Amino acid sequence: MTLPSSASKVLIVTGGSRGIGAAIARLAAQDGYAVCLSYLGNRQAADEVVAAITGQGGTALAVQANVAIEADVVRLFAEVDASLGRVTALVNNAGILERQARVDDMDAARIGRVLTTNVIGSFICAREAVRRMSTRHGGAGGAIVNLSSRAARLGSPGEYVDYAASKGAIDTFTVGLAKEVAAEGIRVNAVSPGIIYTSIHASGGDPDRVDRMKEGIPMKRGGTAEEVAKAVLWLLSDESSYTTGATIDVAGGR
Ligand code: NAP
Repeated sequence: MTLPSSASKVLIVTGGSRGIGAAIARLAAQDGYAVCLSYLGNRQAADEVVAAITGQGGTALAVQANVAIEADVVRLFAEVDASLGRVTALVNNAGILERQARVDDMDAARIGRVLTTNVIGSFICAREAVRRMSTRHGGAGGAIVNLSSRAARLGSPGEYVDYAASKGAIDTFTVGLAKEVAAEGIRVNAVSPGIIYTSIHASGGDPDRVDRMKEGIPMKRGGTAEEVAKAVLWLLSDESSYTTGATIDVAGGR
């Protein structure tokens, strides 16, 4: 595929090979973004998202890059500079949780993996984006959306308090970074999904979690990745031009 040397709307979505990130990548491409989706190890899934986008005439590129490794993030952004042009939008979507456990059964290594991927990874990706988007650095502005979770405020007791705490950090990060770069042409917002049908629940050892818990959701159903992606796309767009530091719940009332 021939990639344009410089597209006007360039999006990096981390963890775009599956789940919510893949839905964001597909929707963004339909909306005219040239899309770079990063992934951790599932190259086949990433290639399928790229093929779906390019098959419809869009522009997409998949890059393997672990957001928990700073050098990988630096390489990811450099590859986008070279092949798509200056990034105008970032979605910090890549996130992990580990097997359901109580805090008194967690070790430091597990907590470190969750915080490194979910929190430090988002910081380092945002750093690279701000260096390219900020008018302070000669950029033309842009938009960043972080994936939080309703877990940040519900706490996920008995499941993954470490994960919930990582999303609490994302909420604070969203507010702080939004204020820091608001006068530099960059808006920073978050989307806080409730219980969404993706395979993240299988990595917690509970693949049927959505259906098991849906009666407790006010709308009595789980959400779809596309429903989350639509909120993300709105926050990236000029339709939300006066919105920064905000978090939108996409949680069926939960
Ligand atoms: P998912 O289905 O498990 O997909 C995770 C994606 O992230 C995959 O593309 C995976 O790549 C990638 N990834 C994982 N670790 C990575 C790393 N270290 N570096 C780069 N990419 C990495 O997850 P999801 O349910 O779509 O969740 C997406 C985001 O929404 C996460 O931040 C999650 O916390 C948040 N969220 C989800 C829910 C929910 O109910 N699903 C609710 C609230 C918030 P590979 O395909 O290569 O493995």
